[in-house]
Amino acid sequence: MSALTQQEISEFRAAVRGGLARVWPSPRSVGGAGLLSAVWDLAAEQEWTALGSLGELEAALEGMRELGRRACPLPLMDVYVATRLLGDGILDGRLRPVVAIDRGGVSVQNVEAAGAATHVLLLGRDAPLCEIAEVLPTPGLAIPDWADVHLGTESKRVRLDEPAVEEAKTLLRLGLAVRAMAAAEASHELAIEHAKTRHAFGKPIGAFQAVSHRCANGQIDVVAARGLVDEAVRLHDVGDPMWPLASELAVAYAAKAARRVQLGAQHTLAAIGFFEEHDAPWLFRRVQADVLRLGEFPLDAGEPADVLLERGVSLPGLELGEVAERFRAELTSFLDMRGGDLAGDAELSTDLAAAGNIGMEWPPELGGRQASVEELMVLHEELRYRGAEPRVLSTAALIGDAIVRHGTGEQKERLLPLIAAGRLPFYLGYSEPEVGSDLANLRTRAVRDGDDWIVNGQKLWGTGAEQAGYCWLAARTDAAAEPPHAGITVFLFPVPRPGWELQEHVGLSGEVSCTTFFDDVRVPDTARVGEVGGGWKVITGALAGERVVMGGIAAQVHRRLDDLLAELRLDPDRAGPRGSAVRARSTELAARLQAARILVNHGVRATAAGGGKRLEAPMAKIVAAEVYEDLCEAALDILGPRAALSAGTAGGTFEHGARISIKSVVGGGTNDIQRNLIARELGLPR
Ligand SMILES: Cc1cc2nc3c(=O)[nH]c(=O)nc-3n(C[C@H](O)[C@H](O)[C@H](O)COP(=O)(O)OP(=O)(O)OC[C@H]3O[C@@H](n4cnc5c(N)ncnc54)[C@H](O)[C@@H]3O)c2cc1C
Repeated sequence: MSALTQQEISEFRAAVRGGLARVWPSPRSVGGAGLLSAVWDLAAEQEWTALGSLGELEAALEGMRELGRRACPLPLMDVYVATRLLGDGILDGRLRPVVAIDRGGVSVQNVEAAGAATHVLLLGRDAPLCEIAEVLPTPGLAIPDWADVHLGTESKRVRLDEPAVEEAKTLLRLGLAVRAMAAAEASHELAIEHAKTRHAFGKPIGAFQAVSHRCANGQIDVVAARGLVDEAVRLHDVGDPMWPLASELAVAYAAKAARRVQLGAQHTLAAIGFFEEHDAPWLFRRVQADVLRLGEFPLDAGEPADVLLERGVSLPGLELGEVAERFRAELTSFLDMRGGDLAGDAELSTDLAAAGNIGMEWPPELGGRQASVEELMVLHEELRYRGAEPRVLSTAALIGDAIVRHGTGEQKERLLPLIAAGRLPFYLGYSEPEVGSDLANLRTRAVRDGDDWIVNGQKLWGTGAEQAGYCWLAARTDAAAEPPHAGITVFLFPVPRPGWELQEHVGLSGEVSCTTFFDDVRVPDTARVGEVGGGWKVITGALAGERVVMGGIAAQVHRRLDDLLAELRLDPDRAGPRGSAVRARSTELAARLQAARILVNHGVRATAAGGGKRLEAPMAKIVAAEVYEDLCEAALDILGPRAALSAGTAGGTFEHGARISIKSVVGGGTNDIQRNLIARELGLPR
């Protein structure tokens, strides 16, 4: 457990940054062994080398981050590991160890920072610490060069058990992944600044969506990788046995993301980022070298897919705070009693309503218990993981929430009890023939007529409209309003009614959505939710809720991953041996899914704090929806044609998932629109 406070860790980070600014001022400071020795002096002087003896992993990783940002390969994590294994003998900085795997023989290859080091600690059951007798630089991608090192006199030897060796390798791998990611992040930041200032074709290049979406993708990778690392550190610090798996999920994600982010930045920087006067080429070398050196420390446990398959575990659990986790424990015991799969549980909605779970987020005077967003998320997660997607829940999250915030007293009194009892089936009337993403330009008109409004127009893709008792309609009440979204008003009214008709469409997922026609449909003003012309606020508030609900899709994908793993455990030939393409694909999906789950939690926390609409929730939605598509497709490839049958492998869940997952990308604001939001938050121009 870390003894340092967050304040102390950020002070440490600032000290490392300040120190490096003097000794290794930029990623271009590749002055070879001499300069690296100066950084090592600094590390000893400022006691970065003491972090191992204190067990301050988070601070050590902060140090690695600062080093990565400057493309400086000080082997701080090697020092951390060596200190933990050898004891305090190396604190004064005179003994400068790097760590390598003991493969026998008198030399070690691909050693980093060898010119500045004094010793090599060879990891194994019997771990010798050997002096470095000779350094033969091996010029290439890495600068300063890696080296082949001839080992000299043995100064010390420690006996290590298997878990200690495995832990050491896990830490070294995490350190390398963090440093690679930090180097890529530094390039990414340079690319964003470049995108704001560089002009082409008369505008800043950041106004081109090819560039802005690349930046948004880079940002998602940076935040996701960071979230995965933080989660690994959290589990490490509380001594959770799942921490090595959490760490390897972070490594698996970062190893790919660091390269992706770096290349994205290189592409945005284009020529200027290719030449050595710029930082990017040096950061590129750091990223590649660090990612490649992960291969120097292979784990006996294998990659994440090996752990998941061979140990029969699932992804490490996340946590949403004490109150939410207490609620999770109560809820899961309630749900577990009903059986593992709740998809066909006809009584579920009624029982959830009876237990007060529908609308539990509303204030007590409106029938709720002011449950937090975190608790709401737990409810969605646990139900979705078990295959249930009760519509009453989304009604409460979308419509109920809007009524609580914008409804009149009469509406609250009349409608909220109906929602809480699961008796307000509705459909969403937003999309139109000419309007999808560009909702602000909707055309369905509502014109005031005494105490009523007369609605004319057409709404598309209203899911569940054929069974709905209510329509939640966004209509234009002011054709001249500028900007156009200022002329939109929201109504909630019972259907069917005179002048209202529908036409059904069967979707790829088998779900029915309807076109609904409004021909002089009369709606009372009491059906209006919010101000006249104030509909945008009502809609966008609900859309933010929708994004968090959509983010809960990660729980559904989690279930699909567990289903896939279960199938592979039953048929090991399909998974193939360690190192197989199927295992590699499973590892990548597991890491992306864990990233999605962490981003969902970020989104939930940001929403709880009153924000998150433009950065955290979009990131969660993008990653969760895209990993859903990819996971189902992968499952079909891996499990073969029978998985494409509706009663085939795992009851057809993968083929159905492949069909329905597209909805997650398109609905709730397409992922392109979400990327636009992120780009705006990064300060890129429209
Ligand atoms: C299964 C399903 C159920 C649905 N249920 C409902 C419902 O109940 N009620 C309802 O009102 N609607 C519903 N929809 C519609 C959904 O809200 C829209 O599909 C969504 O808003 C996108 O609009 P669109 O399909 O018209 O695509 P468009 O807006 O026409 O977009 C087409 C393509 O252009 C891209 N694009 C558009 N604008 C931009 C931009 N500014 N920058 C970058 N790319 C852009 C989009 O990302 C997309 O790739 C449903 C859709 C599906 C698939």
